[in-house]
Amino acid sequence: ALSRQLHRTQLRIDLSALRHNLRLYRSLLPAQCKLLVMAKASAYGSGALPVAQVLQDAGVDYLAVAYPEEGHALRRGGIQLPILVLNAAAYSLAGMVADRLEPVIHNLPQFEQASRLGLRMHLELDTGMGRLGFTPKQLVDLVPRLQSPLVASLFTHLAASEDDRHDAFTLQQLAAFDEAYRAYLAGSDPQTSGKVQRHVLNSNGIGRFPQATYEMVRLGIGLYGIGDAGQARQLQPALELTATISSISERDGGMSIGYGRRGHIPAAGARIAVLSIGYADGLPRASGEGRFAAWIRGHLAPTVGTICMDMCMVDVSGVPDARVGEEVTIFSAAHPVELLADAVGTIPYEILTGIGSRVHRIYV
Ligand code: PLP
Repeated sequence: ALSRQLHRTQLRIDLSALRHNLRLYRSLLPAQCKLLVMAKASAYGSGALPVAQVLQDAGVDYLAVAYPEEGHALRRGGIQLPILVLNAAAYSLAGMVADRLEPVIHNLPQFEQASRLGLRMHLELDTGMGRLGFTPKQLVDLVPRLQSPLVASLFTHLAASEDDRHDAFTLQQLAAFDEAYRAYLAGSDPQTSGKVQRHVLNSNGIGRFPQATYEMVRLGIGLYGIGDAGQARQLQPALELTATISSISERDGGMSIGYGRRGHIPAAGARIAVLSIGYADGLPRASGEGRFAAWIRGHLAPTVGTICMDMCMVDVSGVPDARVGEEVTIFSAAHPVELLADAVGTIPYEILTGIGSRVHRIYV
């Protein structure tokens, strides 16, 4: 038991917080509006299958993944919900039939291939993201050729839903979407077309553009209690990344610590702890040399020297009674993931999806 305790680096996923956040987003949406939740990238690092099971039990309507392989894994794990696949190359469509995966379509050959295979599909419109999707003009030109009862939805993705400096642009995206949808419907034959649903908003969009909920929204990062738009203050942070102290040493003033001798011990000396987490576990190397501090019982322990692959060193001189085997928080509700993201010039999404595969995922 002691050796397990000594090397326990874990991501705790608070399932009741996930359920709370789902309820909160539902309360922001009209009753008929469906909820799609992103399960891609291992459910933002939290573990695709366990999270998808919670979502399925909680009555979520749809899941989305980035690539077909992620959808196949969910089906193998017993997930029955419809699964939208954001980036499905034409060659991968045939493999999606048996698992009833639903590709996002962004060009005509892909549409024709999905039609032949009888796959339910979703048309993506690029209204300003500059990534995948038909431009509004392409869609309007192709309206007669993009008709099929298999088309389940038309959707677009906002480029800057979280940033009010870009709200005018976001409103243009919404207007372009509305116009293209009208053109698509005008070219549809109600006898043969399916009921085409619309979805646009991501997590931050849900709080900020309530006029654009349409028939469904696509929730991602907000599920984990991360976000600062709209009602986000009532979200519960659901993720906690912790490591343990592997060793503690008194180091003499003037000594260097770690690779490249980039850590420096002040003249008075310092108590330095080695933590069981490194960049292979997702603690970015750029968070070394004091740019980030771990959290130990309410005390800050700044990094010293360079983050190693499997370990890092922190200064626990200011932490009373720090002891080997003790748990150290990298992020939690009390020590938000934004602190780490900001320290290294990135966003929580990149931190979460970068958490290494050997970090134990614990569902509580
Ligand atoms: N919709 C699409 C197409 C996405 O790619 C993503 C995430 O990248 C989302 C929705 C969810 O975004 P967020 O995590 O910001 O809610």
